[in-house]
Amino acid sequence: MDYPIPSAKVKALRRSFDEGLLENIPLARYTSAHIGGPADFLIVVSSSDQLANAARTLWDMEIAFRVLGGGSNVLVADSGVRGVVMLNRANEFRFWEAAHGLRLEAESGAMLANIARRAVERGWTGLEWAVSIPGTLGGAITENAGAYNGDMAGVLEVADILQRNGDVEHWPVDRLEYAYRDSWLKRHPGQAVVLRATLRMEPATLEETNAKMNVFVAQRKLTQPAGASMGSMFKNPPGDYAGRLIEAAGLKGTSSGGAQISPRHGNYFINLGDATAADVWSLIQIAREQVANQFGVALELEVELLGDWESMKSNAVQTQGGGAA
Ligand SMILES: Cc1cc2nc3c(=O)[nH]c(=O)nc-3n(C[C@H](O)[C@H](O)[C@H](O)COP(=O)(O)OP(=O)(O)OC[C@H]3O[C@@H](n4cnc5c(N)ncnc54)[C@H](O)[C@@H]3O)c2cc1C
Repeated sequence: MDYPIPSAKVKALRRSFDEGLLENIPLARYTSAHIGGPADFLIVVSSSDQLANAARTLWDMEIAFRVLGGGSNVLVADSGVRGVVMLNRANEFRFWEAAHGLRLEAESGAMLANIARRAVERGWTGLEWAVSIPGTLGGAITENAGAYNGDMAGVLEVADILQRNGDVEHWPVDRLEYAYRDSWLKRHPGQAVVLRATLRMEPATLEETNAKMNVFVAQRKLTQPAGASMGSMFKNPPGDYAGRLIEAAGLKGTSSGGAQISPRHGNYFINLGDATAADVWSLIQIAREQVANQFGVALELEVELLGDWESMKSNAVQTQGGGAA
């Protein structure tokens, strides 16, 4: 797909989406870290049908797009995102009792923490681990979000997936090829859209679900730093914790511009107010270099770099004399 988008395609895009097409929209306000430059175009969808229709239209036009949920696991480049960003606000959900058990069906823009809390309030168990995780169901399905021994792989029954040139397919959990914070969707960015999903729930009592939720919420309060962030920056390497390694490398509290490695938790990088993606990127470099030098461990990003990162990485190489991933 060509960039910048040829003017004939831009005209066609404006014709297709009319007032629904917003132009040159800063993405910082749509991310949990409040960081990121503009999307060339932004389309807000409020139902899974709209999401599917918009995706089909953009694929037909050969215009690249990315879906943004809560923006809580992405670091958007300062120069922004070329092409179209689709902001997913499709958030209908329902609880139902199937012949084979309790189910929660939701559109992919439903906030995970919200549907998890609703399940707790019904005395349905299975999602208590998710009550403090920001972002949408679609983002969680992509990232295999999880906490406290629960994750999406453990509760997902089926996800409705749309791919280019295809009909909507019902993917059972196996097809998502889940691993720790990883999935087929994560390994194929921009190639498929999650429209909706059905989660398996189990019966319990309100006392049980509340008690479970309260333990997790209290634990999170103890460990999670305040401030705008993307959650954990790096995946935990096998048998260890990224936060422990960063702390042992003496990096807690290190800052670059407006970004800081949290003094409270080494794997959280906080926007102190005016952080840029370049500030965060330089902290990422420092953490990787120090942890590799001191402990021989290569830290892998959990957060996804979204947008126009190539120029930024080559600038970093020029100014720092190497080390960019
Ligand atoms: C304070 C804080 C705490 C956190 N705690 C945890 C935690 O305990 N456990 C954990 O796993 N994560 C945690 N996270 C990370 C984040 O909340 C999860 O990864 C979350 O599931 C991301 O959802 P999102 O909607 O924000 O995704 P986004 O960041 O918007 O998107 C992430 C990726 O998913 C893709 N995507 C999103 N929706 C769709 C869709 N409908 N179809 C196709 N692709 C899609 C995007 O294109 C992008 O590639 C935390 C983050 C923060 C800020």
